[in-house]
Amino acid sequence: MTSPVNPIYRDLGTTIFEVMSRLALQHDAVNLGQGFPDEPGPDDVRQAAADALIDGWNQYPPMLGLPELRRAVADHDRRFYGLDLDPDSEVLVTSGATEALAAACLALLSPDDEVIVFEPLYDAYLPMIRRAGAVPRPVRLDPPDWTLDPQALAAVAGPRCRMVLLNDPMNPAAKVWSPAERAALSALAQERDLIVVCDEVYEHLVFDGQHHAPLMAEAGMAQRCLRIGSAGKTFSLTGWKVGYAVGPQPLVGALAKAHQFLTFTTPPNLQAGVAHGLAKPDGFFADLSARMQAKRDRLAVGLDRLGFQVLPCQGTYFLNIDVADSGMGAEAFCRRLVAEAALAAIPLSPFYDRRPDDQVVRFCFAKQDSVLDMAVDRLAGWLHGRVPPRAAL
Ligand code: PMP
Ligand code: GLN
Repeated sequence: MTSPVNPIYRDLGTTIFEVMSRLALQHDAVNLGQGFPDEPGPDDVRQAAADALIDGWNQYPPMLGLPELRRAVADHDRRFYGLDLDPDSEVLVTSGATEALAAACLALLSPDDEVIVFEPLYDAYLPMIRRAGAVPRPVRLDPPDWTLDPQALAAVAGPRCRMVLLNDPMNPAAKVWSPAERAALSALAQERDLIVVCDEVYEHLVFDGQHHAPLMAEAGMAQRCLRIGSAGKTFSLTGWKVGYAVGPQPLVGALAKAHQFLTFTTPPNLQAGVAHGLAKPDGFFADLSARMQAKRDRLAVGLDRLGFQVLPCQGTYFLNIDVADSGMGAEAFCRRLVAEAALAAIPLSPFYDRRPDDQVVRFCFAKQDSVLDMAVDRLAGWLHGRVPPRAAL
């Protein structure tokens, strides 16, 4: 029998997040690999969802999302970014940012369209673009600052280019795009008439007094941007998989056409919980980034004391180190670390189209302080030979 699997999936392995989380379980490891917070999420948001589950209507909600959540998204985007969105036609609720991204690729791309992406990139992007029949055109950003080279950008923007897929703040680079970089992207998009899909799931995880600035809010960009958010990140509820996409009606309407035959809807009680959460006062959102910034600093100090080069982290809940001095590639480093020191991290190599022998390792710091301290202790013990090898490579 010929392979029943579409060639794009046939040639794919299992996502690195699942691989490392399975290894973490196997080795009873501290898991700073897959990005998720180890906290329950805000009580009132969970209570609002619980109330809606017990007292509310549990049949299919409206395909575009509960009206109260669409209104809450529009209000949130006005409050934080000054965006003026019509909740009835310019907001779509999705099952996680992942579904919004998939719907954007399916609805907006045609075979052989080209899509500019920036490496290292979130690992779902390439298969989604390819499964939509389109061709990714990666622009590689390099550590430690991951700065965009405008010439490299111009070089990939050919006549078939239709879309830019931008992740700001950027996972796994932990970069926030600078005003100059955003200006370069805006100029290119307007010059070449491109759509920009902005994956902004870490919008409230921006540090050091900076604030997130959506590309959609730049002059001339409102009609060509889709902005995607996720309750998973904003409320530390990654398992809920409630996302949303906002943008001009023609783009959101196109997305809705894909969405109606993907998931059609998202659990109504979770939508109600998120609607409650998005209306929380400014202090809630400021507190989230302040708490995460403190965790970033705690882990950074620990890693720095161990002699690692800690790369800058302006946003997201990820901190990267350069492991070149260890003499190992990032993948070998992570496999040994989990097996020998019971500490899981993520190598950056799977975040590239053509895997380089990468030397950057990512840690998720959205964890209890005691967990972060334990991670640093385990790393120290491993480095100083106090931890006997538990398994062969
Ligand atoms: N985009 C990026 C950059 C991410 O890191 C993630 C991971 N959570 C997602 C999208 C997916 O978000 P969701 O869980 O809401 O689907
Ligand atoms: N976004 C999370 C990360 O980067 C993981 C999401 C997933 O496991 N699919 O770690």
